[in-house]
Amino acid sequence: MALARKVIAPHGAIRSIRPNPKHPHKAFDFISPLIRSVATICFLLACSRDDRPTTESGESLKELPLPGAAVMIGAGDIAVCGTSGDEETGRLVDSLLTADSVANVVSAVFTLGDNAYPSGSGGVDRDFQRCFTPSWGSPRIVSLIHPAPGNHDYDSGSGAPYFEYFGPRAGPSGRGYYSYDFGGWHVVSLNSEVYFEVSDPSEAKRQEDWLRQDLKDHPSLCTLAYFHRPLFSSGTHGGAQEVRELWNIMYNAGVDVVLNGHEHHYERFMPQNPGGIVDTRRGIEQIIVGTGGGELRGVRRSVAGNSVFEVHGHWGVLKLTVGAGEYRSAFIGTDGRVWDTGSGRCH
Ligand SMILES: [Zn+2]
Repeated sequence: MALARKVIAPHGAIRSIRPNPKHPHKAFDFISPLIRSVATICFLLACSRDDRPTTESGESLKELPLPGAAVMIGAGDIAVCGTSGDEETGRLVDSLLTADSVANVVSAVFTLGDNAYPSGSGGVDRDFQRCFTPSWGSPRIVSLIHPAPGNHDYDSGSGAPYFEYFGPRAGPSGRGYYSYDFGGWHVVSLNSEVYFEVSDPSEAKRQEDWLRQDLKDHPSLCTLAYFHRPLFSSGTHGGAQEVRELWNIMYNAGVDVVLNGHEHHYERFMPQNPGGIVDTRRGIEQIIVGTGGGELRGVRRSVAGNSVFEVHGHWGVLKLTVGAGEYRSAFIGTDGRVWDTGSGRCH
């Protein structure tokens, strides 16, 4: 992968200084002693987490290889007209897909909701056409895309502009949840907005029943699920307790990885159960990637339990390499820098 574009970094480039239990050496590799000591002073003075020193120093991590495996690329909270973040992540996705294609790697693209700001409106604003198309609307991306809806995609009321724009690629129109198989994995795209934005309250139970049945019908060793609002988060919104029932169903069915947006930072968690207890045997690894182009945000002063690593102040996308019985993850910034890597085995 040759990505030499200069990063247009927003203010407040901040990274985690917490150790990475899975790759303890990697979490600290790129943090210089100077930054570490400044961060320690900051910690002792109880600085706000958003006031951590900015640094652009540090090395890109090396992606953990999984030869021959298929690749999924994506993020949430994407298209904003008049800013550069979504164009940068769109170009990154496109270049990663091109590199995969050259290497004969099969690829897919996911989105984690809030696809078009400010309101996914189909009216005079036409946010999808005006804002999403110029950034993530390339034929290469759109031909591989498997979206999920977010709250902003429902600002119009019914989410009609979202369903209209993505058509059959968003699953059955008006529903917002569907599944597909990719790279030997079963993949489920869910609609967290049934708990918030969808007016029919029975839709939440309908999705839960569908999910239970879908996972039963597809007893794949490896399963990925993604939707907009995270159950666990150190971000400004915090965890959305409403989606816990989805987690209960997924945990009982052996889902391996969950991806979310809504929070505008990157954060990876230890595998855990729906109650937030670390579970290395059957736990679900949750990763937040709300860094697709929307305004970047910090995290709260208190870090959520089992949070392994977070990056805020940088746009980027997640590359999830899905292999036979195992996976690798990499959070890649718009300058091509690999900020975080992870891995796991399916259960
Ligand atoms: Zn949102």
